[in-house]
Amino acid sequence: MTDTVRTTCPYCGVGCGLLVTPGGERTVTVAGDPDHPANRGRLCVKGAALPETMGLEGRLLHPVVDGRRASWEDALDRVADGFRAAIRAHGPDAVAFYVSGQLLTEDYYVVNKLAKGFIGTANIDTNSRLCMSSSVAGHSRAFGSDTVPGCYEDLELADLIVLVGSNTAWCHPVLFQRIEAARAARPAMRLVVIDPRRTATAQEADLHLPLRPGSDVALFNGLLAFLAGRGVVDRDFVGRHTHGFAAAVAAAARAAAPADACDLDPALVTRFYEWFASTPRTITVYSQGVNQSSSGTDKVNAIINCHLATGRIGWPGAGPLSLPGQPNAMGGREVGGLAGTLAAHMDFTDDNVDRLRRFWGSPSVAARPGLKAVDLFQAVRNGRIKALWIMATNPAVSLCDSGLVREALGTCPLVVVSDAMEATDSTAFGHVLLPALTWAEKDGTVTNSERVISRQRRVLPAPGEARADWWIVSQVAARLGFGAAFPYRSAADIFREHCRLSGFENDGGRDFDLRGLTGVDYDGLVPVQWPVSAPGQETRRLFGNGGFFHPDGRARFVALRARPPRAAVSADWPLLLNTGRIRDQWHTMTRTGLSPRLSAHSPEPCITVHPADAAAFGLSDGAMARIESPLGGIVMTVVLDDAQRVGEVFAPMHWNDRFASAATVDRLIACHTDPVSGQPELKAAPVRISALPVAWRGLLLSRSTPGTPDPGVVWSRSAGRGHVVTRLCGERPAADWLEWLRALCGPDGDWLHYEDRRQGIFRAARLLDGRPDVVFFVSPRGDAWALDWLGDLGRAGDLPPEGRAALLAGGVVRNNARGPVVCACHHVGRTAILDAVARQGASSLDDIGRLLGAGTGCGSCRPELRRLMAGARAAPVTAVPGTHD
Ligand code: SF4
Repeated sequence: MTDTVRTTCPYCGVGCGLLVTPGGERTVTVAGDPDHPANRGRLCVKGAALPETMGLEGRLLHPVVDGRRASWEDALDRVADGFRAAIRAHGPDAVAFYVSGQLLTEDYYVVNKLAKGFIGTANIDTNSRLCMSSSVAGHSRAFGSDTVPGCYEDLELADLIVLVGSNTAWCHPVLFQRIEAARAARPAMRLVVIDPRRTATAQEADLHLPLRPGSDVALFNGLLAFLAGRGVVDRDFVGRHTHGFAAAVAAAARAAAPADACDLDPALVTRFYEWFASTPRTITVYSQGVNQSSSGTDKVNAIINCHLATGRIGWPGAGPLSLPGQPNAMGGREVGGLAGTLAAHMDFTDDNVDRLRRFWGSPSVAARPGLKAVDLFQAVRNGRIKALWIMATNPAVSLCDSGLVREALGTCPLVVVSDAMEATDSTAFGHVLLPALTWAEKDGTVTNSERVISRQRRVLPAPGEARADWWIVSQVAARLGFGAAFPYRSAADIFREHCRLSGFENDGGRDFDLRGLTGVDYDGLVPVQWPVSAPGQETRRLFGNGGFFHPDGRARFVALRARPPRAAVSADWPLLLNTGRIRDQWHTMTRTGLSPRLSAHSPEPCITVHPADAAAFGLSDGAMARIESPLGGIVMTVVLDDAQRVGEVFAPMHWNDRFASAATVDRLIACHTDPVSGQPELKAAPVRISALPVAWRGLLLSRSTPGTPDPGVVWSRSAGRGHVVTRLCGERPAADWLEWLRALCGPDGDWLHYEDRRQGIFRAARLLDGRPDVVFFVSPRGDAWALDWLGDLGRAGDLPPEGRAALLAGGVVRNNARGPVVCACHHVGRTAILDAVARQGASSLDDIGRLLGAGTGCGSCRPELRRLMAGARAAPVTAVPGTHD
């Protein structure tokens, strides 16, 4: 236990504490930290699977310049020379930085200081622009600062939880576990979910409002008018601590009937309004469904308006609470990672710019906001940006109109990418690649969604020549002539400067204040919630008694008019595409895509379609479909689900060119942005869908990653246990399957194969030193191949003769009793769960846990288990006979 390190999960904004114990050879064990306030020992499946992502496969381990290995000296010189030349020739705004909520606060601070403080450009933006910038803008409009008023404990103290645009059960799973536990302890608590889809979260709700996408402002305007009409207004709070109430209510009252505007049953809307009105302890939690919209900032303010009107803010169990997606989106906000903000939560006023000039000792602090992400890449495309440095993010996949991003990167004279991974869709465009540390190698701090700062600590040594991002930036700063201002020897040095700046000339007029941490023991820092104006003075909640950060100390109501999404469906583009996360993947899969456990739940890119739309467009469950927008097309497998509204489809944001031939969904999405926050509308893109004719389907398991199939083949890749799984299909079978396969996997080894050309069946295996190294199956429609059985072949020793026969006979491999994995912790599939209900009489989660273990690990699958069980009870199934599973 002495080697165990307390650190923080690198995935979502919940910011769970972890106990990580190194085991040698880059292995670790991971457990939830029982002392961390965010999770109290809990973990979700992503955190629990971190040990599967520790390998060095695919890591960038040394600098690369123009495609060739380089020394650090040469690489850093090339970056500095390129940036210096661009600045000299075209001015500081000719360079830009695109950074990430994956960076630690210290890394973020240093790069922001270099860009805004010394180069003198505010052309630094972050992928958090795509995630929560509408919340930042909404907070600033209402509160005068980007302040999160409440904390996670409010979820347990509330009597009514309203989740808006948040699939919390999948995207912030440990918070959902906390909600579930609180509801179990106090069944009178109510949960309302407002989301166009009946997500895993919505199915757990007491009330689900499947509203029309983008209509949230109408719904909350209606609520504000309802509260005012019923007299459910805290007149004292409104009178003493706010401005603009009457105008906001008047604007809300002028709006159309909310049920019509939101396409909702009026009775459901009234029930929600009555519950809200009658429940003083109400917390409204919102996430990407609110933020990723062309009216995202208005949605945030529509929610905050209702909390200000009722004075339900900053009290136990009451308030608005935004949930950012990334582990350190909040830390980035604190250091001014967004183009429109300065360090320490300051904005671009003359006083703040002057304050920074004096604190940093730099005459060249940027004096006006820079380009937000979408505008920044357009400026790269237009040639205004001559040198771009991307850190810890993958905009060629994750930004809207990612085709344009790729064009921009392809034309930029100097693209620098700092990344832990060698081959991402974005590193492909890098003239200079700089190897960065990743989770378990880095040292620094992160801030979670409730303002708790936690340490991420180093567990493993730096591999190869990888370095900390703050070190890399400081080295370039020195080469640009700013070395004296970047003298850092450790992350602790940077943290202390960050704390000092937060308190510099801060008389309480700025919310972000870490003065109390300036002299703290950095190595021993325990999770602490800001503001911390003096040692030991944490702040759970703000604004319960006013004290907002507008100059007059009052909050602002915002008068709002609902606006639909910028692009509407039409005869040519009849479906609205929503994008988002799936349960077990993270961002562009560079880390989670390595984990067999995380790849088991949704191993291939799928588009979810309502059965009525499927009938209208000639699609069936499991068929391949082409999805197109005016910007391009992708191919995914169809999943039918009536949890989807008719006329709307959903696709995951994760897949990219490393994991699939054509499934980068952001290629379809135009860059319509919110006029205040600049956040792109990633959840409402008009598309069309059509069946993709497929003559054959194949499954390839290989110990190493095979080559890329020819362009006519649709493929996707996922991690298996000791092997890579590639799913393939195409319109025309290969003329010679064995030749085709040998071209893909290499000709070596002892090849076995069986072919029935008439039936379109081909099976082959390659033995290397007597052990199965590749297995490949083709049939016209694909079979339910027993993936685990096949995968275990790869881990077996010599294959006995009967194994060879079984491999090629096909019978053995067609009976996959498990079905899609539901419980990733215990590897329990859908079929086994249905079987337990049908044959063994399982009627509760406890029964399923006792019989199969499912749902007893991290708990992320529990909503899905309930749904499956409810479905099975409603429509009893005939269980599939068990075989090898
Ligand atoms: Fe990590 Fe899961 Fe906790 Fe998010 S909820 S921080 S992904 S363990």
